[in-house]
Amino acid sequence: MKEPLRRRRWPWLLAAALIIAMFFASFVEIRLPWRGDPRPRGGADEIAALKSRRDLNLLFVLIDTLRADRLHSYGYARETSPELDRLAASGVRFAHQLSQSSWTKCSMASLWSTLYPAHNGVTRFDDILSPDAHLPAEVLHEAGFRTVGIFRNGWVAPNFGFDQGFDVYIRPTIAPRAPTLRQANPTVSDRGTDEDAVSSALEFLRVRGHERWFLYLHLMDVHEYTYDEQTAQFGGTISDVYDNAILWVNNVLAVLLDELAEQGYAENTLVVIAADHGEAFLERGFEGHARNVFPEVTTVPLLISFPFKLDPGVVVDARTRNVDIWPTLLDLLGLPAPAQSDGRSLVPTLLAAARGEPAPGPDPAGIAHIDQNWGQRNQKPAPNVAVRDGTLRYVRVPNSPHPLEQLFDATNDPIEVNDIASERPDDVARLRAVADGYLAAPPRWGAAPRRDIEEFELNQLRALGYAVP
Ligand SMILES: [Zn+2]
Repeated sequence: MKEPLRRRRWPWLLAAALIIAMFFASFVEIRLPWRGDPRPRGGADEIAALKSRRDLNLLFVLIDTLRADRLHSYGYARETSPELDRLAASGVRFAHQLSQSSWTKCSMASLWSTLYPAHNGVTRFDDILSPDAHLPAEVLHEAGFRTVGIFRNGWVAPNFGFDQGFDVYIRPTIAPRAPTLRQANPTVSDRGTDEDAVSSALEFLRVRGHERWFLYLHLMDVHEYTYDEQTAQFGGTISDVYDNAILWVNNVLAVLLDELAEQGYAENTLVVIAADHGEAFLERGFEGHARNVFPEVTTVPLLISFPFKLDPGVVVDARTRNVDIWPTLLDLLGLPAPAQSDGRSLVPTLLAAARGEPAPGPDPAGIAHIDQNWGQRNQKPAPNVAVRDGTLRYVRVPNSPHPLEQLFDATNDPIEVNDIASERPDDVARLRAVADGYLAAPPRWGAAPRRDIEEFELNQLRALGYAVP
């Protein structure tokens, strides 16, 4: 006769083993199979068809101070960015993306206005993005999106005109930080973390996620070298800590993206990862950013992830710019292009890459610009300008009595430290003319309005480590 099931030992042993396994699994971050990527597969035709969809949301994540070459998907040996790499592997990665400045306000004014710094006029600490600008958030608001910005950097505060078009534009509420979090940038005294920004974003999604939305998150923990001691993997030099901060932000973003999938938004949300500038680590004898326009501070990542998976992911090798971001996103969404722009839609370029066809047409030259006197009151403008053309970069540094001109070729000099200006006078002359033409064009909306900045705002900016007057 068969023994009844309840008298046998194996079902009880199996149940006990399962309970023990689940107990230990709760301590370990395991991506359980049912929480995997729920998106269907897609390709170039689905990308081209996005513009006729009326259900798409847009999540735009700006990671302040993130240089491209510290991401594994951009060739870095360390695995600093598994979540971003996953987006790259199933979406589009732009391999040569140029930011238009190395200082947040100048770079972000250019990114949003799609005009180069001299053309939108925002190059100094007290300049304001013109109210005459018609910014992407305004276009999205007019198209029926609920527009929400959550920012942690005072340079993109409403007082500088960056809230145009946003229904809600706020700093996140600061929660007590985990005891294992460290902030290694000694000049920073900000209390918040990017977890606060993600918590605010999750709160918004819980309440309003069912509406059609555009959500802009401006994250600061890489800028502030904030990292979690518990999950840090990369040592203790300042450069290692920067990598640890990228890993921390990657993990914080993973929580947001998991939640998006959990709530069913992965299949109708376009996710974009961008950066305003990079960070120097003694390539030319100094650390940080907001001083010049060399590659370590202007070569940034750009990832676009669709509501479907590309398999394989697409790499765009064209030389692209942050002024191209919004012409591209508005084009993808089937919305009107900016009226006047220094950028161009990259949709034809990425479709060609997705179809394995050659890129359409040559890449336009790219400009990066920082005013050396951006933080000084009553000082004349001193534009430090780079022109990137193919693999060449012409750099002009204001210097008395004559500007200093340099030329680099990334072909055999990837970090661009060998000045070949004296060997290539024709290229120097050609790119000097591009720089002159760029600086000669008047700002689109006239000289940028300026404002007196309150002492508390200056303190907020000083808390980010900026030397402002
Ligand atoms: Zn920045």
